[in-house]
Amino acid sequence: MSFESLGLSSPVLQAVSEKGYATPTPIQEKAIPIVLMGRDVLGCAQTGTGKTASFVLPMIDILAQGRAKARMPRSLILEPTRELAAQVAENFDMYGKYNKLNMALLIGGVSFEDQERALERGVDVLIATPGRLLDHFERGKVLLNDVKVLVIDEADRMLDMGFIPDVERIVGLLPPLRQTLFFSATMPPEIKRLADRFLSNPREVTVTPPASTAKNIVQGLAVVAEEDKREALRRLIREQDVKNAIVFCNRKRDVAVLQGSLKKHGFNAGALHGDMSQPARMETLEKFKQGEIQILVASDVAARGLDIVDMSHVFNFDVPFSPEDYVHRIGRTGRAGKTGHSFTLASPDDGALVDAIEKLIGSAIPRVEVPGMDTLEFEPSDGRKRRGRGRGAKSGSGERARSPRRERKPRDERPIEQQVEAPVARETRPPRPARERRPEREHHREPRAERPSRSHDRRPERRRERDDSAPIGLGDHVPAFLARPAR
Ligand code: AMP
Repeated sequence: MSFESLGLSSPVLQAVSEKGYATPTPIQEKAIPIVLMGRDVLGCAQTGTGKTASFVLPMIDILAQGRAKARMPRSLILEPTRELAAQVAENFDMYGKYNKLNMALLIGGVSFEDQERALERGVDVLIATPGRLLDHFERGKVLLNDVKVLVIDEADRMLDMGFIPDVERIVGLLPPLRQTLFFSATMPPEIKRLADRFLSNPREVTVTPPASTAKNIVQGLAVVAEEDKREALRRLIREQDVKNAIVFCNRKRDVAVLQGSLKKHGFNAGALHGDMSQPARMETLEKFKQGEIQILVASDVAARGLDIVDMSHVFNFDVPFSPEDYVHRIGRTGRAGKTGHSFTLASPDDGALVDAIEKLIGSAIPRVEVPGMDTLEFEPSDGRKRRGRGRGAKSGSGERARSPRRERKPRDERPIEQQVEAPVARETRPPRPARERRPEREHHREPRAERPSRSHDRRPERRRERDDSAPIGLGDHVPAFLARPAR
């Protein structure tokens, strides 16, 4: 199938062809004709599938006729993070270069004044993160009654980040007669319920089964002692032919520490996390995209949806707390049909988290051994609390305090590429529900300092600022995340 057969206009086709894309991806093939018909779409697709162009291209044509009034955008795209919003804006710039559409990007970390000026000129396409959009709305700088097309992108991530109350409020401000395009990488029941409320008689478009991992990603998982993870990471990076890589950490404070350690060992490493200023985030990202930084140590929030086409590797320095995050993380590699590699470092305590991931993706992640290092087994999840050092604790005197119960396996001396086999179907054991033990993780929020107070703020408890200090040994102390009620 060609782009020409999808019903797009010549200016858009011209821009697509100049970008060098000859054939539409499956999501584009399925979604574009439906969007052009004016129908609502419920799209189940991850980033990396060409999802952005699947709504940007037809929207350019839909919005080609008509003019926007001051402060009354004609379309609205909601994105969970600033980076994703900026990427969508880049897509409009690129594919809309032969159309005269006004665009405004409302994200945190950037001055209100410039954004207000853009709104004042009248915008055809408004791309926003929910918090910043509501800030402008409350200041009376934007009216949403003229929005004809609404896109809610990465809905499952919006849910994870606690943005759904804001999204619901925004949707309540829109005219009921509109076209809505709703995308999510996964479709848990909460998201499905939301889609049912927001969409009217939608056509469903699914390009990969929910939460599946791309076939062209070679995955591996090594179980090593917590205190050996940095060494294991360095060995993996050296052993692999790493062109560029993201290394994911669960906590933002570990991001800087790990980056420092990698730099000390001679690696060209940068860091990206939600506490950095927006200009610093953009600068780091740009350097990474340009190849000036080879290894980007990042937290989930900062790295969500990054579109770096040619990324060779993803390393999970920590097993993500939520299994969906595993799918998102490794989806940063193997994009647009290229082969990617993903390696996860797990500590012996991470068995339940890995279980939940394998249950979600429907296959076992092949176990690998880090060259020259001991490989351990997961500890049995017998529910007993161990005393002693917790996750991420520093090895005080440098001594290696491994539990005597930890089994070491005989070493597999084969190169990693040979150790990694095709994922095998796993026997499905019911995992402990992942949300039950979701520890502190970084939640990105737009800065609220500039926000006027709201008497009716319905944001849930979990959106409050968190202390992301590492939980200490479970025997000594009950960390806050365990005391908090499960969602
Ligand atoms: P997305 O899922 O929107 O984040 O897109 C993933 C990557 O695929 C981006 O780098 C796009 O530029 C690229 N892409 C989008 N459409 C196509 C296409 N039809 N052919 C090849 N690459 C594409």
